[in-house]
Amino acid sequence: MLTKTKIYLSSPHMGGSEQDFVNEAFRTNWIAPLGPNVNGFEDDIKKYIGGDNYHVAALSSGTASIHIALELLGVSAGDEVLCQSFTFSASANPIVYLGAKPVFIDSEVDTWNMCPELLEIAIKNRLEANKKPKAIVAVHLYGMPYKADEIIAISKKYDIPVIEDSAEALGSTYKGRHCGTLSDIGIFSFNGNKIITTSGGGALVSNNEDYKKQAIHLSTQARDNAPHYEHSSVGYNYRMSNVLAGIGRGQMEVLDDRVQARRGVYDFYKANLEKFDDIEFLEEPTGFYSNRWITCIKTKSYEQRENIRLELLKDDIESRPLWKPMHMQPVFKDCLSFTNGTSEKLFDIGLCLPSGSNLTQTDLDRILNVIAKTPNLS
Ligand SMILES: *Cc1c(COP(=O)(O)O)cnc(C)c1O
Repeated sequence: MLTKTKIYLSSPHMGGSEQDFVNEAFRTNWIAPLGPNVNGFEDDIKKYIGGDNYHVAALSSGTASIHIALELLGVSAGDEVLCQSFTFSASANPIVYLGAKPVFIDSEVDTWNMCPELLEIAIKNRLEANKKPKAIVAVHLYGMPYKADEIIAISKKYDIPVIEDSAEALGSTYKGRHCGTLSDIGIFSFNGNKIITTSGGGALVSNNEDYKKQAIHLSTQARDNAPHYEHSSVGYNYRMSNVLAGIGRGQMEVLDDRVQARRGVYDFYKANLEKFDDIEFLEEPTGFYSNRWITCIKTKSYEQRENIRLELLKDDIESRPLWKPMHMQPVFKDCLSFTNGTSEKLFDIGLCLPSGSNLTQTDLDRILNVIAKTPNLS
């Protein structure tokens, strides 16, 4: 019997030279959380996103990068931080690590990201309560840029800085500028399921060089300049290791190919599923360029979404409902939220399809055939 292999939502896709960089780390015994690969990886990212105007600190994860970013912006116990509700929990968890409180903001329908109108309503509400929010965490979800001009205008108007969660959006651009560079501090993730991976890792990006210096200081246990170990603040062990940065250097060589491949996956689904009235896609507004990290579809109803998901599962094909909004999560049930129904609806009817850059045409045809056979799909 011919056994079919499992198809994953998004799996690691090595380029070729990752192992050479890792071997070099072994050969030179740089098996440490610093070294030439870390510096090289930071340089590669910097060149990719726009060159010398930017400063990059390679850290142990995207979550760690958000944690450090919040700390750099002065977030501390009792503060409120505005956070996109429609996201992965890692956007919000670091707010809680600092003893601060997330206030969740729902999405708009054009990009599925933070709704600028609701953001302003929330800010006005919190100002009236005498609780000026310390920061805004906005997310380019599934690689689609958020409405940056509108969000930045509000950030400036009320003087509240933005942390740009670009964990899913390396390679995406907004009006020609790279996601991660649009706001005060950007973060990337190199987790195993992201568009490129170091097996686990992250980066903090800013045009403010001091943020990079402070990020490195804090992520290496906040050691002061002295021959002994002297500390005047609490630090973290959040730096990226030189071995993993070697994987990252190899992955940066193929990042553009990965973006093209994922966009190709989106184009394939769109071209072949568009004929079904029940299925809708998220289009790029003018000036928005998504890396199409994950291709998401909207279906007619919860039942239909589940039918498609379960048909795929029967054929050993992984798919997943869209992110469950943070304001619906048990862990955040006591948090304030400003909602409009958008993310709840998307959670109800949306599905993430396998989108890896390593999917073959055979894989894609197999996925398409299963979806097309879903009962009652029209
Ligand atoms: C993956 C992800 C993170 C966290 O990154 P890690 O490297 O896994 O810690 C944060 N935000 C979003 C939106 C993500 O998808």
